[in-house]
Amino acid sequence: MRLAIASGKGGTGKTTVAAALVSLWTHPLVAVDLDVEEPNLHLFLKPEISGGQKAFLEVPVVNETKCTRCGLCSDLCQFKAISLLGDIVLTFPEMCHGCGGCLMVCPEDALSAGSRELGEIRWGTAGTAGFIMGELRVGEAMSPPLMRQVKAKLEERYKKETVDVIIDAPPGVSCPAVNAVMDSDVILLVTEPTPFGAYDLKLAYEAFSPLGKPMGVVVNRAGIGDRGVYEFCQNAGIEILAEIPFERRIAEAYCKAKIVPIAYPQIKPVFVGLMHKILNWRQYFKEACVA
Ligand code: SF4
Ligand code: SF4
Repeated sequence: MRLAIASGKGGTGKTTVAAALVSLWTHPLVAVDLDVEEPNLHLFLKPEISGGQKAFLEVPVVNETKCTRCGLCSDLCQFKAISLLGDIVLTFPEMCHGCGGCLMVCPEDALSAGSRELGEIRWGTAGTAGFIMGELRVGEAMSPPLMRQVKAKLEERYKKETVDVIIDAPPGVSCPAVNAVMDSDVILLVTEPTPFGAYDLKLAYEAFSPLGKPMGVVVNRAGIGDRGVYEFCQNAGIEILAEIPFERRIAEAYCKAKIVPIAYPQIKPVFVGLMHKILNWRQYFKEACVA
């Protein structure tokens, strides 16, 4: 089962929940940090990193002597990453999405594949769990290409093993967030009971609903704010799987990059209960696959 832990906005406690579930999980597991713009799951899990590699994106390079200035590449690229301006074909590697379309349409074979560094992928183990993360290069604006390569690394390293996967997704509802949750079986939305939390939860629900995946909610900092989140979940028919109370010791554990149910054992039953509810989903998927 693949569980994506997401949130409509940052700072809701998504990584706190992800790290807690990884620490408690009772089945073979890989933890994947797909929040490549600001990965921080490793700060909590403190994985032993055993390997890494730079990640690159293929971008076009023009061979001026072969190019006839036909403009086909420029017409094709919707991102204006390659443009025929007068008699010059200009490329803008930072705007290129690496789709390879321009290389395919060029009738003169005047384009070849260069590369732009996206960032780094690292892997290893966190306790008994596998661990993979991506980290975007400072100044790099596009995270989905790196996220795709992190996911490819996951497939490459675990294709022969049956493991559950917990994904720490980027916050928000834009392309990176959708990219992170789209391959999951279940989406866990972490929110807080404030007007902002309710608003962003609604956005996340609307953004991810078309994917047709079951969603559950964790209410973090329960006890503050108002009832907006609860009312939304009731109206939308989303189950609240856990409520994490607003307590100083949880905030302290987070600030010290500690895994909450380990640093604060009194709160452990909340996370164990959450895990069991998620494992019920896991069983459901297992049975559905067999059927
Ligand atoms: S690879 Fe795709 S995005 Fe990049 S310049 Fe070519 S057509 Fe545009
Ligand atoms: S498609 Fe090829 S030949 Fe035409 S302008 Fe682009 S690089 Fe030049």
